[in-house]
Amino acid sequence: MPEENTLFHKILTGEIPSDKVYEDEHIYAFLDINPVNIGHTLVIPKKFSRTLLEADEETIAHLFNGVTKIARGVKEATKADGINIMNNSEASAGQEIFYTHIHIVPRFDGDGFTHWKGARKYNSGEEQEVVKKIKKEL
Ligand code: AMP
Repeated sequence: MPEENTLFHKILTGEIPSDKVYEDEHIYAFLDINPVNIGHTLVIPKKFSRTLLEADEETIAHLFNGVTKIARGVKEATKADGINIMNNSEASAGQEIFYTHIHIVPRFDGDGFTHWKGARKYNSGEEQEVVKKIKKEL
């Protein structure tokens, strides 16, 4: 899908309204329309990429500097006990909008949201095998 057809590009240009919480030369942050908790914020780079893994290094640096700054602000403002900083890359990981974005989710003790529910254990030898494969790619 071309950049201009994505929902978040339209939010960036103002074609679709959003509740802006922060903007600078490189990033734009706004409230998620369906918050996990009040204050759930999305941060997007102004430079388009389809997924985080396709973004260039400079864009990622600006994005994550901004994300941590905004996350501190969200935590203070909502009096959250903790924060999840998340990205979904590709549909199998839950990505619905194909314009890179980072979720900042305020979390509260006992709020009941669970993640990594299906976590498993390694079978014998699997750790070494996958470590070898990952190292080869880096
Ligand atoms: P993801 O599944 O990581 O692609 O997340 C997409 C997020 O965009 C979801 O959490 C949606 O609630 C959020 N979303 C969808 N439409 C809008 C919108 N118009 N304004 C703000 N957030 C939106």
